[in-house]
Amino acid sequence: MKNLYIDFDGVILDTITVLYEEAKRQEYEIDDAEFYEKFNYKCILKDKYIINDSINCIQKLIDSNKFNIGILTHCHSMKEAADKVKYIRKHFEDITVIVCPKSISKTKIIHTKDAILVDDYAGNLREWEAEGGIPVRFSTKLNGKGFPVIDRLDSLLEMF
Ligand SMILES: [Mg+2]
Repeated sequence: MKNLYIDFDGVILDTITVLYEEAKRQEYEIDDAEFYEKFNYKCILKDKYIINDSINCIQKLIDSNKFNIGILTHCHSMKEAADKVKYIRKHFEDITVIVCPKSISKTKIIHTKDAILVDDYAGNLREWEAEGGIPVRFSTKLNGKGFPVIDRLDSLLEMF
C-alpha cells in the first residue's frame, strides 16, 4: 500500500475562494497571516463547498485498499485545526488527519519518500518532490503546472 496524503483547502473543500473574498472585504492582503489566524473557519467548513465529489471519492479510495490515507492540512491556529478535524470526522470515522503549522513545510511533518501528495499549491508539490515524494497537482482546470494533474480524487485509482 502506498502512503497517500491529501491536502484539504482547495482539494476537499473550496475554502480558498471564500477566504480570499472575505480577506478582500475586510481589507486584508490575501497573504496576511493575521486574517487567517482570526478567521472563524467553522463558517466555511460546509458540505456546500465540496469540490468535485471529494468526500465520496475519498471513500472510494479507502474502499480500494490501495492506499494508507492521511489528510494533511496547513493550519494557522489550533482552533482552525480543531474545526477541520471535526468537519472531517463528520464524514470519516477513522481517517488520519495531520495538522501542519502554516509556517512549517509539509515535508517536515511526515515521511515523504515514495509517498503521494495531492495538493493544489505547486509550492508544496515542489518541496515534496525535492524530498523524494510523488507530487500530484489537484486543479479543477486540469492545469498541472509541470506536475501530473487530476481534477477528481478518484482519478488516483487509475494513476496508481
Ligand atoms: Mg491547498
